[in-house]
Amino acid sequence: MVRCVKHKHSETMRGISRRSLLTGAASLVAAPALGAISRPTDVDVAIIGAGAAGIAAGRRLAAAGQRYVLIEASPRVGGRCYTDMTTFGVPYDRAARGIRGRETNPVAKLAAEAKLDIDPAPRGQRVRIGRRNAREGELEDFLAASVRANRAIGDAARSGRDIAAAQLLPRELADWRTSVEFLLGPYATSKDLTEVSAVDLARAADREPNGFCRQGYGALVAKLGSGLRTQLDNPVTRVEWAGRDGVALDTRQGRLAARAVIVTVSTGVLASDAIRFTPELPKRHSDAIARLKPGTYERIALELNGNPFGLSRDDLVFEKSDGPRTGALLANIGRTPLCTIDVGGAFGRDLAAQGEAAMIAYAADWLAGLYGGDIRKSVGRSHATRWSSDPLIRGGWSSASPGGAGSRAVLREALSARLWFAGEAAHDTAWGSVEGAWETGERAANEILRSFGVLRDEPAAKAKGAVKRSAPKRQEF
Ligand SMILES: Cc1cc2nc3c(=O)[nH]c(=O)nc-3n(C[C@H](O)[C@H](O)[C@H](O)COP(=O)(O)OP(=O)(O)OC[C@H]3O[C@@H](n4cnc5c(N)ncnc54)[C@H](O)[C@@H]3O)c2cc1C
Repeated sequence: MVRCVKHKHSETMRGISRRSLLTGAASLVAAPALGAISRPTDVDVAIIGAGAAGIAAGRRLAAAGQRYVLIEASPRVGGRCYTDMTTFGVPYDRAARGIRGRETNPVAKLAAEAKLDIDPAPRGQRVRIGRRNAREGELEDFLAASVRANRAIGDAARSGRDIAAAQLLPRELADWRTSVEFLLGPYATSKDLTEVSAVDLARAADREPNGFCRQGYGALVAKLGSGLRTQLDNPVTRVEWAGRDGVALDTRQGRLAARAVIVTVSTGVLASDAIRFTPELPKRHSDAIARLKPGTYERIALELNGNPFGLSRDDLVFEKSDGPRTGALLANIGRTPLCTIDVGGAFGRDLAAQGEAAMIAYAADWLAGLYGGDIRKSVGRSHATRWSSDPLIRGGWSSASPGGAGSRAVLREALSARLWFAGEAAHDTAWGSVEGAWETGERAANEILRSFGVLRDEPAAKAKGAVKRSAPKRQEF
């Protein structure tokens, strides 16, 4: 019976792409050359954090023949790209999984070099209404409500009204309101729309994933980082960035001198003061960091044997919700029994605070509400992430608070031509993504190379490996 319903509604969904529902729908400082270094430095560039941004920066500096080192606090590289192979025995991406714009995505383009495979993502999503799939007319209503909400946010953003996106939702969203709030809020930004800048949201690039790495996105990023000069298990605790001789870092493994530093840790970590800056960061930067704090986005993973939903590979399912206690299901991941339920925003935060058992119980209850209680019998192994309480991450991804849309540009401003920030939060449009983080790492590395005079003869925008800056893009339906 489930299979019949599934078939009928996969036809129904064919015309509605992920793009149609998702939100995207959703100074540089001209750095002077550093000049002569009066004492030897250990490296030219120290990169703090070996996530996507740090790895991209490391590869760029390695290619340019610079002395660099990646300093990573945890025992592995990849940060919020992490494929866990042990919990389920199949690739389980605990955070980033969906590849956006796989034809142009700089990380996906390197998959062949890494000898890994990118599979296309199926188009479209399903929507459950209680225990049945939404009918075509209902899907159109959901789509129309999303369009109205996006237009209202886009119109306000264009007129410069950087207020909370929640204030702009039209009244006519009727009984699709909470579903739209989830789609544009926690699912797209990791925050509730009351905490999200309308301008930042309107600028966001298309978030539709159109590919998955068969071996895991985390496996791909880790492979791209292998072979780089990296110190693992080595948290940085202090950055002295205004000395005449460059920068000095205090790390667990000792002190290190460099001509310049790229800091790629999350804005949650920066806001926590786990790394002290000497002198303190200018207020302009610390305000920007405070306005770009990550929200909450957690993943509950269940092994569901026997495909009890009757769904296809990588099917994405939302529900018509009646409140914020909702999630997004990704079923039969990579044709395995692995399914994930993602939760976020204030609801996700409160749920995660109750612990892993409560998260798993919620996911089983939620699925039982949508597909029937028998689902529980299929549940095998389980796991839930706790990114928000991980001291090295502290949240989902950055989302600007109302009034904070300009903060990403401030974060990118280099300080004293010695200190650069990179990472997903520093990207104007592709924040909260792997490719966004990657591009900011490459960009910071290129700026440093220019400040060293290594790229002196190349115009900034055309420098080899320079980041193409995508024009702020608003999704139209
Ligand atoms: C649950 C979840 C799902 C997601 N899904 C997607 C998706 O489908 N597609 C997508 O494109 N993006 C997704 N994202 C977002 C994506 O994962 C991030 O935008 C991206 O990985 C961030 O990379 P980064 O290099 O900026 O930061 P990070 O990956 O956070 O890297 C920073 C590194 O710094 C290290 N560090 C922290 N403190 C210190 C210290 N004191 N000293 C040294 N090192 C330190 C950390 O351990 C970490 O390795 C998701 C994120 C989450 C949480």
